[in-house]
Amino acid sequence: MRLRLLMGQPGRSSAKLLVWCSIATIVGFSAVCGSMMLDMRRSEQALALRSMENLATTIDSDISRNIELYDLSLRNVANNMIEPELAGVSTRLLHLILFDHAATAKHFGAIQVFDAAGNLLHDSATDDPKPENRSDENYFSVHRDNPNAGLLISRPGLHRGAYAIVLSRRITGKDGAFLGVVVGSLRFSYFHDLFERLSLAAEDVISVIRRDGVVIMRTPFDLDVIGKDLSQSPGVKRVLVEQSGSFEGFGAIDPIKRLYVWRDSSHPLVVIVGKSWTDIFAIWRSQALRVGGIILALIAFVAGATMMLAREIKRRGRAEDKLEELAITDALTGLRNRRKFDQVIEQEWLQAQRRQEPLALLMIDADHFKTYNDMFGHQAGDQVLVRIATSIAGAVERARDCAARYGGEEFAVLLPGVSADMAFAIGENIRTSVEMLSADKWATTVSVGVASVVPNETLQPAHLIEAADKALYEAKSRGRNQSVATPREHLSRVA
Ligand code: GH3
Ligand code: MG
Ligand code: MG
Repeated sequence: MRLRLLMGQPGRSSAKLLVWCSIATIVGFSAVCGSMMLDMRRSEQALALRSMENLATTIDSDISRNIELYDLSLRNVANNMIEPELAGVSTRLLHLILFDHAATAKHFGAIQVFDAAGNLLHDSATDDPKPENRSDENYFSVHRDNPNAGLLISRPGLHRGAYAIVLSRRITGKDGAFLGVVVGSLRFSYFHDLFERLSLAAEDVISVIRRDGVVIMRTPFDLDVIGKDLSQSPGVKRVLVEQSGSFEGFGAIDPIKRLYVWRDSSHPLVVIVGKSWTDIFAIWRSQALRVGGIILALIAFVAGATMMLAREIKRRGRAEDKLEELAITDALTGLRNRRKFDQVIEQEWLQAQRRQEPLALLMIDADHFKTYNDMFGHQAGDQVLVRIATSIAGAVERARDCAARYGGEEFAVLLPGVSADMAFAIGENIRTSVEMLSADKWATTVSVGVASVVPNETLQPAHLIEAADKALYEAKSRGRNQSVATPREHLSRVA
């Protein structure tokens, strides 16, 4: 039994080991690949953030430089307007002094000077401007009421037939009095030109907003969005207070999730660049899908191969178990064979010696079997042997008991921990059940020799077998179909 277990277990446990190894490999492999993909995703995001920061910085400095240059011209006009020496010069000369070339730059409108009542005094585009009054304009009243308003940028709107933002500065007299405003404009064509030069994806967004949250320009261009106040939009709120940074979220205009980066140098406009989440991770997603597909295929392959191998190992284990079982079983009766009995008696002898408990042996032999064979034939004799084995197996139930075919028509039953009296009773049990089995036929009976001993240093298993054999001989000589137990003193003599 133990040998069978030893032989049988490795097959099953190696199948389990294989399955666990495969699971560990799959889990480990997936974890490594997963963390690599996450790292790749993080670096894609970092890369996108860097390029967006660079883009925002570039746009911001372009706008900043242009507005600064134009503002220089406006300030130049505002300063020169209060010079008393210019009071007497001709309009032609005055224009040459007041307006430099900035006023004629491509996307900038003409610079105009209005007096304290809002009436047009000078226009860089013409020496003879048509009368015009700007006292109703918002920037006019702001400059009039606030000497420190600085450069004002208006909400976007139609200005002299084109969409533009109006830039204005106050003309302040030497005594601080309000003398009028100098006004210029920056046309939307400037922004269109600037954004067209950039290569943008379909869902990329660039917005230029004023410090109060009003949209000055946006690409993709949408006239409905221009002039909109975004100061209450959650993302824009941060943009208006911090100089630079980034945030993830849904746009205030469309419901696309984007990564936004903003830049704001000293001028009153903020540049926000947004790139959609889909675009940022487009390459990563296709790589992740490819790698994920390969990993899934590998996992399926490893799992399939493991299942097949594990099944094969189990099948072989079962076959080995069966072979082992066959190797220790008597083919005719199904009891243990002689080889197995010899192993078991050695093991049980040592065990009984260690525990100092009795080890009993029954030797069972069919009576007049030769005659039975002669009368009914060998095959009928085999059937009787099978019936005797069934009777023996029925009487021996404990797992440690070993019932074996000792040879020919002789059987041996090893009963660990059983006294001579109990062994005698078991022997009688077997004998009577064989007797009953054969009641309707020519009587086949068995004789039983019983011996039980507590093993010691001076005794060997052979002594127990010899004693049981002697008792069997005694049963035969007393007339057969009976059980005889070896007396204790006889066993000592054997020793
Ligand atoms: P006793 O009562 O003294 O034991 O007489 P016996 O005839 O049983 O003893 P003996 O040793 O003279 O004969 C044993 C017989 O058992 C001889 C043989 O034909 C028969 N025998 C041994 N092995 C087998 C077997 O596997 N099958 C059959 N059918 N008979 C067997
Ligand atoms: Mg016999
Ligand atoms: Mg015999």
